[in-house]
Amino acid sequence: MRIIESPHEMQASALQMHRDGQTIALVPTMGFLHDGHASLIRLARSHADRLVVSIFVNPTQFGVGEDLATYPRDFERDRLLCEKEGVDTVFHPTAEDTYGRDHSVYVEETVLSRGMCGKARPSHFRGVTTVVTKLFNIAQPDVAVFGQKDAQQVRVVQRMVRDLNFPVTIIVGPTVREPDGLAMSSRNKRLSSDERAQALCLVRSLELAARLHQEGTRSSAEIREAMCRLIAKEPSAEVDYIEIVDHASLQPVETIDTQTLIAIAVTIGETRLIDNRVISSDDAAQSL
Ligand code: AMP
Repeated sequence: MRIIESPHEMQASALQMHRDGQTIALVPTMGFLHDGHASLIRLARSHADRLVVSIFVNPTQFGVGEDLATYPRDFERDRLLCEKEGVDTVFHPTAEDTYGRDHSVYVEETVLSRGMCGKARPSHFRGVTTVVTKLFNIAQPDVAVFGQKDAQQVRVVQRMVRDLNFPVTIIVGPTVREPDGLAMSSRNKRLSSDERAQALCLVRSLELAARLHQEGTRSSAEIREAMCRLIAKEPSAEVDYIEIVDHASLQPVETIDTQTLIAIAVTIGETRLIDNRVISSDDAAQSL
């Protein structure tokens, strides 16, 4: 397994892979890898000849006062996981090499980025689309794999690929959860044991929404209310948003029908967690 720090060297290596007739899959990550990342790596493995995992805590997607400095990092552990999963190249650049001191070009999606996480984190998706563009130009992937855990990010990246004609196929992997249902996240490490227990309110509120829908509730307002009540029982939990939107357009819907995405962000103590669930027509069929 190669570890490449220089963007220039990574790009040269990727271009050589293409000249050798090989396809490339990229899994972009911020490191502190867990089984959710591992599942995306395995999915990527089956879609291309060469597998590149990037590990880069991207400063431009963190706002002022957010957790850039304290974001968990453990490169040695990440390296071992990548080796075990048969990754060909780990791209691990420094922030200085990735963004020049006088860096002044950004890529911005202007519609899907505005709501949900974009409300509390107004420059977040501009950082994401900018770094993903850079990673696509550097690692030259044919295929890139992202997690449904970050549902809004998936939609924003898909729109960017469509609107800017990137020759990259986006593949989406399902959310991997702890045995009790908590969505895996690098940030879970920050939770105290008491907060860890309270963090289950995210998945429980999404399960409640799906159950209410199955039982016939269609009003978004009613479902949001019920989710809020469940989360409010946890003393350290503060709802940032509960959004009930069309899965494709991310526009709010008043009545839940097919392909509705319920996305939530809740701060537990100091740690902001997100999760989501797609309510599909299959859910409705089950209730008939
Ligand atoms: P991150 O390192 O948190 O930026 O995530 C890197 C990629 O892994 C993103 O595409 C995430 O959506 C994805 N990811 C994070 N957590 C999970 C999870 N629990 N299950 C599946 N994919 C995940």
